[in-house]
Amino acid sequence: MKPAHRPYRGRIAPSPTGLLHLGHARTFWMAWRRSVDACGTLVFRNEDLDRDRCQPKFINAMYEDLRWLGLDWQEGPDVGGPCAPYSQNERGHFYLEAWQRLKQGGFIYPCTCSRKDLAEMASAPHDDANDELIYPGKCRPTCGIVPHAESPAGVNWRFRVPDSLKVEFIDLRLGLKSYVAGHDFGDFLVWRRDGLSSYQLAVVVDDAAMRITEVVRGEDLLKSTARQIFLFRALGLPVPAYFHCPLLADASGVRLAKRHDALSLQVLRAAGRSPESIRSEWEKDWPGLR
Ligand code: GLU
Repeated sequence: MKPAHRPYRGRIAPSPTGLLHLGHARTFWMAWRRSVDACGTLVFRNEDLDRDRCQPKFINAMYEDLRWLGLDWQEGPDVGGPCAPYSQNERGHFYLEAWQRLKQGGFIYPCTCSRKDLAEMASAPHDDANDELIYPGKCRPTCGIVPHAESPAGVNWRFRVPDSLKVEFIDLRLGLKSYVAGHDFGDFLVWRRDGLSSYQLAVVVDDAAMRITEVVRGEDLLKSTARQIFLFRALGLPVPAYFHCPLLADASGVRLAKRHDALSLQVLRAAGRSPESIRSEWEKDWPGLR
């Protein structure tokens, strides 16, 4: 049976850990553009899970920078909406409920390995410096054991990836993408010992609760998408469509990061760049990218 048509709901989901630079802004612009083209609803989600790294001044700067660029959204922390709250630090109870369900289903296990243990156990050189190390499985129990734990407190919890299982999805820009669990990524964190949900779990819970039909994000998150598909399936939630954007690099070919202050929207704006000139550059490339 064909799935029922769901009206387009997209999202922009910045983490307020620094000033927005051109690379982020272009990804968010693409999310906005695809939502406008689909006459959809765009949700702004504040991904401020990590309280130590996130600062309210950066969230305010993001609203301001994105509006200056001409983007708007129909739901979000500053405009409200039916899926409120839209800030991750207010959504802990949803993540906790998902942790319970994953635990009951035997999908996750507690892991007492420290970062140092993990670094020592890593046998092969890591080919992707931005990605999590493949967990060597020290704390991994036999399949299907439901751990006795009332709460996730005090230890890390990992999702047990099905060994060698291929996960495939059609990216709306890149076509078929295929990853192998246990090879491209290992048992990944769903809950951190400091009491917070991991990024992977929070995003899956929120994308489902906010009824997101299409996720537009940078290509650096392709393997996260593969991990998240396992979580959607384990939780029995609908998997959205995906569109991964190319990443912007600086003049010497280095991928833009929050440390590229010179390319932050605030600096460009102070230097007299207009939003129209930034957007018209992106619009030029857009027909080939969309
Ligand atoms: N919060 C993430 C970021 O700022 C994006 C998350 C996502 O697209 O799932 O990079």
